[in-house]
Amino acid sequence: MNGQRPDIAGLRQDLDDVDSGIVRLIAQRRDIITAIAEVKQHGEAGIQDAERERQVLDGVAAAAADLGVSASLVRRIFRELISESVAQQTRRLTGEPGGRVRVAFQGVAHAYSDAAAQKYLAGRGLDGDLTGHRTFREAAASLIGGQADLAVLPIENTTAGSINEVYALLREHELYIIGEETWKVDHCLAGVAEVPLTSLRRILSHPQGLEQCSQFLLSVPQAAPTSYFDTAEAMRAVSEAGDPATAAIGSPDAAAAYGLAVLRHSISDRSDNYTRFVVLSRTPAPVDLRIPCKTSLILVTGHEEGDLLRCLEVLSGSGHSMTKLESRPRPGRPWEYMFFVDFEGNIADPRTAAALDELRAAALYVKILGSYPAKALRSPARPAGLSEAPAEVSSEPSSITKASEQDPAEMLEAVAAAPKPAAGRSRHYKLVDRAARQDDTLIAVGDLLIGGDGFVVMAGPCSVESQEQITTTARFVAEHGARVLRGGVFKPRTSPYSFQGLGWEGLDLLVAAGRDAGLPVITEVMAVDQVPRMAAMADILQIGARNMQNFDLLRELGKVDRPVLLKRGLSSTIEEWLAAAEYVVAQGNQQVILCERGIRTFESATRNTLDLSAVVVIRERSHLPIIVDPSHGTGSRPYVAPMAWAARAAGAHGLLVEVHPEPAKALSDSEQSLSPGEFADLMRHLASVPQWPVAARV
Ligand code: PEP
Ligand code: MN
Repeated sequence: MNGQRPDIAGLRQDLDDVDSGIVRLIAQRRDIITAIAEVKQHGEAGIQDAERERQVLDGVAAAAADLGVSASLVRRIFRELISESVAQQTRRLTGEPGGRVRVAFQGVAHAYSDAAAQKYLAGRGLDGDLTGHRTFREAAASLIGGQADLAVLPIENTTAGSINEVYALLREHELYIIGEETWKVDHCLAGVAEVPLTSLRRILSHPQGLEQCSQFLLSVPQAAPTSYFDTAEAMRAVSEAGDPATAAIGSPDAAAAYGLAVLRHSISDRSDNYTRFVVLSRTPAPVDLRIPCKTSLILVTGHEEGDLLRCLEVLSGSGHSMTKLESRPRPGRPWEYMFFVDFEGNIADPRTAAALDELRAAALYVKILGSYPAKALRSPARPAGLSEAPAEVSSEPSSITKASEQDPAEMLEAVAAAPKPAAGRSRHYKLVDRAARQDDTLIAVGDLLIGGDGFVVMAGPCSVESQEQITTTARFVAEHGARVLRGGVFKPRTSPYSFQGLGWEGLDLLVAAGRDAGLPVITEVMAVDQVPRMAAMADILQIGARNMQNFDLLRELGKVDRPVLLKRGLSSTIEEWLAAAEYVVAQGNQQVILCERGIRTFESATRNTLDLSAVVVIRERSHLPIIVDPSHGTGSRPYVAPMAWAARAAGAHGLLVEVHPEPAKALSDSEQSLSPGEFADLMRHLASVPQWPVAARV
């Protein structure tokens, strides 16, 4: 009998031969794909062809059925092979050199993020040094700090929904999405020994893991679900504790790595449980137009009814189909929302760039998170650049490749400059132009709206000097009708020997005084590195006259979701001023308030010449609100009130006025600061000055 048994060693040898044959065939398939990619590189064909993919899958499934092999197994394997060949062609088109990259992820080895990161790297022909971090924030910090080249973080799960913390990181930091990866999450329950489930007392996993298996957990009510910061780490903890009454939820791979026995396979509530990961970088990575591409952005819409709809229509009207729309509360603004939007499109495609310009004109804030090769799509996407591209683009492949080599920011600028301006219109700005938006931009600061038909007075000392000084001033101006508290803490003084402001300590005093008086605060930000902290604390960020053309600062303020007050430069034309505003708006932040504060002329009777005609010109040329600063505009106390009244009559949307409890003792701009009594007089008479909103439509 024994002699008739098949020889197991021989059978294993046969199996090994078949397996290496399969690998050889995969290599052969890869070489053919390389040849196809070579041909496509010189043509215009997109690299993903839904119809062709369907044919391949149907073909192999039919062949499988003939041979009595599971068609669904064969389909699964071929889906992986096709996805790998798309990645291979993508790699070729983007000219990625391969090599080693340092990748940060959250969790420990064998966590799902680790697996997704490995899959992404393999698809791109990259080798990675992967480092696991305790939290998403720490993984992002390692990328920001330059210790990693990429971070791979989960952004949403098909069962448990979006991962808020990762969205918060995208909002707060200058990080770009350069890729995405999907991973089928197939949870198992594992423990140190094969025990009946009824003997379990504790089940450890990441909160997402517990949530995704909530139905299963109901079937083991005696075992307490316990949050752990990572699924693989939970497996490790179970293995180390060696307690058969404790089990963990995670991947079978992690269970094997920590020597655990699988007690139940596939315990996710849903079998189609996928997690989508984003691949983040410090710089955007342009994508060739032939590659199916997605673009992600953060959007804040205006406050009028239908504003969200208008923004979405910009995308749909330009042929961009949206793959995701998610609303999140806007930090620090109760009951206001921002939106995370994904759509099929590539920022390097002039049509997408133009749609984004239009979107900026329709929104209050737009932050582009990046364009990247799409992986998670309901059906294979159309390549962005070709099927519907205007003739001049599709007939000229060289221009397509050129577009993809360009920095997206440059691309946007080029597109923004493309259409010929109407006669008499500027070439230097487009989004701030009245032509881009018919209605006046309304900027919300708490429940205060700046722009349109409103009139808002911002008042306070030139500089914050002490708690007593700022608190008294705040209470006084609030009682007399001011709606915003001003106070400089970083002061741009002509002489380095003059008082330079109290710095961050002053900002704390200003914010506290504003809170005490119920007023939002405005203060000047002088440098790029001050922006994040200022944006987190102040309600409006002021760009001083001396910084009007500090382009780095303008760009930085264009990236935050905070209103910006842009003063006119000492010797700037209105054209230059609007072009400076365009710098902010072009980065995404549409919340810009212009402030006329006087310009330098031959006249020496006043500190500056307050150009009130700028108010009517701006209201005609731009939709942005314009306010007037009669304090710096005249430099002289007695002239401040009359110019404030004149500003209102001319159609300004508000005032910025310096007030000090004891002007004679002010550490800066003492000559032009109003006493409390003078401010009260200014406000009293102001109420009787008629506004002339019609000035907007001269
Ligand atoms: C100010 O408002 O404090 C200020 C310094 O103004 P400007 O930048 O207009 O000189
Ligand atoms: Mn001042």
